[in-house]
Amino acid sequence: MTTDFAVTRALFDLPEGVIYLDGNSLGPMPKAAAARVARTVTEEWGQMLITGWNKAGWMELPSKIGDRIGRLIGAEKGSVVMGDTLSIKVYQALASAFEMNPTRKVVLSDTGNFPSDLYIAQGLCRTLGPDYQLKTVAPEDVMAALDDSVAVMMITEVDYRTGRRHDMAALTKRAHEVGAIAIWDLAHSAGAVPVEVAKGGADFAVGCSYKYLNSGPGGPAFIYVAPRHADIARPALSGWLGHEAPFAFDLDYRPGNGVERMRVGTPPVIQLAALEASLDIWDKVEMADIRAASLALTDQFIAGVEAACPDLDLATPRDHASRGSQVSFRHPEGYAIMQALIARGVIGDFRAPDILRFGFTPLFINAEDVAQSIAIIAEVMDQRLWDRPEYKTRARVT
Ligand SMILES: *Cc1c(COP(=O)(O)O)cnc(C)c1O
Repeated sequence: MTTDFAVTRALFDLPEGVIYLDGNSLGPMPKAAAARVARTVTEEWGQMLITGWNKAGWMELPSKIGDRIGRLIGAEKGSVVMGDTLSIKVYQALASAFEMNPTRKVVLSDTGNFPSDLYIAQGLCRTLGPDYQLKTVAPEDVMAALDDSVAVMMITEVDYRTGRRHDMAALTKRAHEVGAIAIWDLAHSAGAVPVEVAKGGADFAVGCSYKYLNSGPGGPAFIYVAPRHADIARPALSGWLGHEAPFAFDLDYRPGNGVERMRVGTPPVIQLAALEASLDIWDKVEMADIRAASLALTDQFIAGVEAACPDLDLATPRDHASRGSQVSFRHPEGYAIMQALIARGVIGDFRAPDILRFGFTPLFINAEDVAQSIAIIAEVMDQRLWDRPEYKTRARVT
């Protein structure tokens, strides 16, 4: 294990002249990823053809890699599996959770959740019937809204806009007291903050691999099922690779062993190869060290930007316990400001209506990057460099 992040930084391919503060949205490319993917393509797919499923171990990849991610989120061995996209994994977790709590019909979430999670819940409720309902409350009101009508509490731990972090253990404890099942979305937690799904008592957890875990665009998601539920939870998306014996080709579905049942169809082998290259870097570090470095970087950034740019309003909690690994500021011209920053090599992103978002990943961002980005932000704000028509035309992806 290393705490020398100059070592890990050297393992990423970062373009010259760029300070990349958007690893929370799409992690950068590990240098080893290109060769690792090329090997899978040319040596495995190219030479082994279909025998690669056995010879190269493609079929085991989703659970083998699941365990490597499991270490980063405090999961028991054999309780995490890879596949599909996060939206699909949200659906799976929620459908199973509803089925495990059959007398109740409410899924509780908060208005800080990422829309896809809410849309998926709305769609599933519509399928289940008119009595099923998604209830959303303000993030600070989740605890009080937990009552005996709630079947499932579905919460994203770190708010994608503000970086506010929920108290997973406390909310899960309360959810269990009222008889609800707890699903945690770790999209902005896995690789960002230390997570303890097992100790925290989560029933299900889901997350993606292309943000802090750097698997590249379209990398697969993960799902955690607490071992106490793994042989009870019934998958609504009951695909052949979640079957107990896929190659028996039975006509009837029988759920596979443990978390393997949450697999659906053919795994994305090439994308998983890219993820393996990234996990080789993650294997070198402890989340506690990442967290300490992340808090130092976000503290430095908050102090520097606030001192230099009085017009930017901090949207992220100052309190360490309530902060993820990103810092957000509000400004009515946030979109144009972000375009001006990107044009000057400081890459963050914009989230409507007014949020400028900056992600901090100690694996490849250091104090010098933070100091430089503060200076560039100060210059853009001071001289109103954002106030130009070309920075105000919105692209499809913001
Ligand atoms: C990024 C993110 C998603 C995206 O889902 P995909 O299916 O991977 O596109 C969903 N939920 C949350 C909370 C996210 O942060």
